[in-house]
Amino acid sequence: MTADVVVVGSGPNGLAAAVTMARAGLAVEVFEAAEEIGGGLRSKALFRADVVHDVCSAVHPMAAASPFFREFDLVARGVELLRPEISYAHPLEGGRAALAFHSLARTCERLGPDGRRWEALMRPLLDRSRGVVDLMLSGRPNPAADPLVALLLAGRILRHGSPLATRQFAGEEAAALLSGVAAHVVGAMPTPASAAVALLLGHLAHGSGWPLPRGGSGRIAEVLAADLAAHGGRIHPGQRVTDLRRFAGVRAVLLDVGAREFLTIGQELVPAGYRRMLRALRNGPGAAKVDYLVSGPIPWAEPLVGRAGTVHLGGIQREVFRQETAVARGRHGDTPFVLVVDPCAVDPGRAAPDGQRPVWAYAHVPNGDPTDPVELVTARIEHYAPGFRDTVVARRGVSAAALESYNPNYVGGDIASGAVTVKQSLLRPGPRWDPYRTPMRGVYLCSAAAAPGPGVHGMSGYLAARSALRREFGIRSAPPLGPAE
Ligand SMILES: Cc1cc2nc3c(=O)[nH]c(=O)nc-3n(C[C@H](O)[C@H](O)[C@H](O)COP(=O)(O)OP(=O)(O)OC[C@H]3O[C@@H](n4cnc5c(N)ncnc54)[C@H](O)[C@@H]3O)c2cc1C
Repeated sequence: MTADVVVVGSGPNGLAAAVTMARAGLAVEVFEAAEEIGGGLRSKALFRADVVHDVCSAVHPMAAASPFFREFDLVARGVELLRPEISYAHPLEGGRAALAFHSLARTCERLGPDGRRWEALMRPLLDRSRGVVDLMLSGRPNPAADPLVALLLAGRILRHGSPLATRQFAGEEAAALLSGVAAHVVGAMPTPASAAVALLLGHLAHGSGWPLPRGGSGRIAEVLAADLAAHGGRIHPGQRVTDLRRFAGVRAVLLDVGAREFLTIGQELVPAGYRRMLRALRNGPGAAKVDYLVSGPIPWAEPLVGRAGTVHLGGIQREVFRQETAVARGRHGDTPFVLVVDPCAVDPGRAAPDGQRPVWAYAHVPNGDPTDPVELVTARIEHYAPGFRDTVVARRGVSAAALESYNPNYVGGDIASGAVTVKQSLLRPGPRWDPYRTPMRGVYLCSAAAAPGPGVHGMSGYLAARSALRREFGIRSAPPLGPAE
């Protein structure tokens, strides 16, 4: 093989790693198990040729804000990041809904006495948003981090990541809003890890926003792949790597794979200590996905919910905490947390000429749950949007257990490639100063199983590539990533 660098897996991290290495002037080859590239960024027509569904990720607060994507500049490459007027909504009983507008002021206005508290929680983070994002996505303890940002986060994590969380707001709306964002951790709540996720995503909702790429998430994979091709890189879809020895002699091999797949393809090359560490990386609960083709907008009881990019169905804070904690312990929730996205809320072009459109949803369920989620998720949406059931033209459910056959990184449906606990947030994949370097010469872990963890931010790939450039090629400076360079 003539490549300087091999990347296994073409998810956002694999592509970010490949782009970074190619931009440094190296010959890069990417091997992808699936027939389509993109991993968690795939979009596909599922029911009719003119309606595209996001198979995994749909909403991109981190792609709009992460250091890798800021440099790469999606917008300058023609990806329109459509920012909804309401970042996320959280319907409640009696036709009410809590709404997180992109405008912090409008959000606070609707929260009554809790408006002041929401402002005090979010404003200081918004004023230092870049520092907050850089600290939380930097992948390891960062001595260069702004100490004021660290202090702001520490106090808030303490209050919202402990039993004190239930005492921070007077009314149901603000508490529900924050618990819905914290639930993106997909784990027991409240914990410092869930609070950290809530603060990162929560403040971005009022800053760079929670955008959807016009046309679907696949657009992000397309422009990453185009940049790679423009710099000489090649992608080989439909090639699952089963044995790392295939790449003997390649100077750097970056693996966009989960811990279990790493062990499978590394076989006896993986030293015992590192093997033990990867085995100890615990998986979190599963996601069970439902894609719908519907005949029109979702008939939410509170019509403003239809203007939100993302909708959280979980009820009041106490319910969200209870259900998420039960699911993390392997018990079925009777009313599981469900996320819903109607992309047409911001991207009307996603609808067919006759008005049929995609709806994206997934529920948090125990790891490995084999239950078809269609009925569960449909009932949850119907509860807050009476009549939804009648709009469904076609639907496809993928259980948590089945998600793994779609992508080996999602073991038991764990879309985070490892539970986001406090320990596994700070030390991911385990206690190593450089989370990307492995004891195997030239082999790097570059997936969401390494810090900073799940989400479409490209940072595990970018930071792994920087580590490999330094160690394997003696290249210390970051290659330029912008479209003009
Ligand atoms: C249903 C769902 C909804 C989500 N929603 C969002 C969202 O809205 N916003 C957000 O930011 N994040 C979301 N996520 C999470 C996000 O998609 C992931 O965190 C992200 O894709 C992780 O990127 P990655 O590159 O590490 O891995 P992946 O995207 O999982 O990519 C890994 C790639 O490696 C390939 N691969 C694995 N093993 C091999 C092998 N042996 N040989 C060759 N190829 C291999 C896989 O096929 C895959 O293409 C969602 C995920 C799911 C599943």
